Amino acid sequence: MTDQSLSLTRRAFLQGSLGAAGLVGASGLPLVGCSRSGVFGYDVCIVGSGFAGTTAALRTVAAGLRTVVVEAGSFPTEPRSDHALGPSFTYSNSGEFEYHAAAHRQIMVGGTSNHWRGVVNRLRPSDFRMQSEFGIGADWPIDYDELAPYYCKAESALWAQGYAPIDGAEPARDCAYPQLIDTPYRDPDLQIDGKRFRFFSPARSNRNGWPVRVVEDEIREFTASRFGTLLTDRQVTHIVSLDGRTIDHVTIRSPDGGTETIRARSFVIAAGVIETPRLLLLSRAEGASQIPGIQSRFVGRHFCAHPGFPWKFEPSNRAGLPAGVFRSYDLSDAFRREQLNAVHLQLFVVGQKPMLQLQAEMESRPENQVRLSQTEKDRFGNPLPDVALGFSKRDWQTRERGVDIIGAYAREHGLAVPQIKTTPNWRSHPSGTCRMATRASDGVVDRNGRVFGTDNLYVAGASVFPSSGTSNPTLTVVALAMRLGEHLVTALKRA
Ligand SMILES: Cc1cc2nc3c(=O)[nH]c(=O)nc-3n(C[C@H](O)[C@H](O)[C@H](O)COP(=O)(O)OP(=O)(O)OC[C@H]3O[C@@H](n4cnc5c(N)ncnc54)[C@H](O)[C@@H]3O)c2cc1C
Repeated sequence: MTDQSLSLTRRAFLQGSLGAAGLVGASGLPLVGCSRSGVFGYDVCIVGSGFAGTTAALRTVAAGLRTVVVEAGSFPTEPRSDHALGPSFTYSNSGEFEYHAAAHRQIMVGGTSNHWRGVVNRLRPSDFRMQSEFGIGADWPIDYDELAPYYCKAESALWAQGYAPIDGAEPARDCAYPQLIDTPYRDPDLQIDGKRFRFFSPARSNRNGWPVRVVEDEIREFTASRFGTLLTDRQVTHIVSLDGRTIDHVTIRSPDGGTETIRARSFVIAAGVIETPRLLLLSRAEGASQIPGIQSRFVGRHFCAHPGFPWKFEPSNRAGLPAGVFRSYDLSDAFRREQLNAVHLQLFVVGQKPMLQLQAEMESRPENQVRLSQTEKDRFGNPLPDVALGFSKRDWQTRERGVDIIGAYAREHGLAVPQIKTTPNWRSHPSGTCRMATRASDGVVDRNGRVFGTDNLYVAGASVFPSSGTSNPTLTVVALAMRLGEHLVTALKRA
């Protein structure tokens, strides 16, 4: 397929809404006609078109900032063979556990939003204060109250649909879900050891029956703006600074091996939890080497995932449980007070497959990391990432305590002792690798997502989470990206 016909495919997909600028990138013509004299190609260059990148991009184009989104993947409608950069996006595993690339992220326009399941959950207030409340992990430099207004906006953007909140079971909220479920909520009334657990039914993203996929409306809205340019099939490989403080440009490789550069006033790396630190690590060898945040020992470190430990029980033992998916956070802070990780109980009563699952947070440790492979390289000769993921003593103790609680439930209901696998069932919720902190000595980015030591490089996405709690990450990713978009507008309009 030629570049020209690729462009036409995209145009058909977008029903003619792709702006002329978008076609410039797609057809391989020069991307920017600017020089280093201070005339910039774009106000904002965003790497990655998933939830994080697209959310920030919509905010900046709405304010009239010329924004380019550079995306390594193709449109999902295009045949798999057109994902010409695909081989550049694998990784190896060197830790205790396998964490498979293809299962947990998507390299395509719209990123992983093409495959997510749409559960929309806030972090809990105590998730932001791990160190000050429990003496473990790190505090976030922002708290729940600061994020709360953005959570409300993010729930609207994701078309969240949920029941009226159940006091104490979910984090307090001061806005209703944009779509309320009007059938009565039926509680599973689950008790263990004489304690009745407070359950709620997690909200879901529901736009006309499907979870929001940004490739549908949001990317269309972005490219319809005269300020928005989308470049697909372009892998950003390096971030370059000429003076050790300000990012001058990013280097891009196209499937034919060509190299291009993009200059902008500000850059946002929203390439996911594995590719974002990889890009920063690759850039250490380039002109960005002097930037403290890029040199930070935290780049790639503190990778976290959500281990799940499911126990499927016999349908005949549903014992009057109502149908639905239920979650209880009641154990979370109790576990942390015992210096364990938070866990939540999730009860699935769907069809004939009831299941009680323990979903845990992980101890945030530097040993769990994304680093550059010593041996594997991509087609451009750049090292591929390697993911090292393992359990600490606390992670194992958390699992054991949680499994005991499930065992207690089984005993109380006269069921066989649950056999729960030791190897976790990994949820697709990676986080960490570019953690947010108050000071450069404690992380990679500041409270606004700005890389320490630069004035114009930002990170968006779950990479910046200093801790993960046990909630699904995307609502927080979108809330933070909205906040970052506002910050960029203020900073660039002022300059
Ligand atoms: C099966 C599955 C189910 C899930 N279900 C849920 C759920 O129910 N609830 C929930 O909250 N979360 C869920 N998630 C997680 C959710 O999908 C992610 O949190 C979210 O999509 C992350 O968005 P992002 O923009 O940060 O990253 P991504 O969507 O991964 O976007 C990163 C983008 O950057 C591009 N890119 C990477 N490197 C480069 C480069 N060098 N140059 C240019 N572009 C690059 C990629 O192609 C991609 O488009 C699920 C994930 C999976 C896989």
